[in-house]
Amino acid sequence: MINLKRAKLLKGRGNMIKEFNHEEVQCIKTTVSVPMFRINVYLYFIDGLLIDTGPRRLKNSLIPVFKSLPVSQIILTHHHEDHIGMGSWIQSHINKPIYIHKAGIADCEQPSSIPLYRRILWGNSKPFNPEPIPQTIETKNYQFEVIHTPGHAHDHVVLFNRENGWLFSGDLFVIPHPKSSFSFESVPVLMDSIRKILTYDFSTLFCSHAGVIINGKEHLTEKLRYLENLHWKVKRLHLEGMHAKSIQKQLFPKLHSIHLLSGFENSPAHMINSIIDDI
Ligand SMILES: [Zn+2]
Repeated sequence: MINLKRAKLLKGRGNMIKEFNHEEVQCIKTTVSVPMFRINVYLYFIDGLLIDTGPRRLKNSLIPVFKSLPVSQIILTHHHEDHIGMGSWIQSHINKPIYIHKAGIADCEQPSSIPLYRRILWGNSKPFNPEPIPQTIETKNYQFEVIHTPGHAHDHVVLFNRENGWLFSGDLFVIPHPKSSFSFESVPVLMDSIRKILTYDFSTLFCSHAGVIINGKEHLTEKLRYLENLHWKVKRLHLEGMHAKSIQKQLFPKLHSIHLLSGFENSPAHMINSIIDDI
């Protein structure tokens, strides 16, 4: 007898993945949905190189994709669970090197200790053993410069292909005008990373959450302008003697469900405090 519920679930899971090409890059768009929240996660595949592995929650949908790709090496842009979630499966089933910035190796080797809301959203990553990423990644036809870009995560890297003006930007961009950040993020460090990247000659951003952005440099410049303006406002109010909580009330008065759901691991307070710490 056909189990209709199971069949529906599998169909639903299958629908969470869409594949398309941009130039020679294979783009794998996955969507994670929980009540009241839906977020896209993109993986990219080019010339044997898989960039990020997606969240473990989408394991059943991602395994057939990985089995269909001629993967020869894997790069992780950083150690967060929506990027490394399938790392352990890939390590044991696709015997190819997995690279991450050396600062992120320990995060992948240890059992995950993320808060409950992130475990529910992304699934729980299992430990695995990636290798330190070299400064340059070569595939048969392409070369990628690896650039360390902390701020969102201490081990965050982006990949730059000069010939095509491609920037695989991980979570460096995501949105142009963030109104909240995680406790582990730093606005000033992120600004320095964006400034560094804007010195490179790229045009297309391959973002892990926003997808393919054609005028990538303009979008990233817009994000830097927004953060610089925020930095200036927070600094001015702080120097006038205003406390961090009052600055938050003035600049970001709205409370969003993500602040509550995350137990304030995600909050505008982290943006403001990271700027005040920098003054
Ligand atoms: Zn991240």
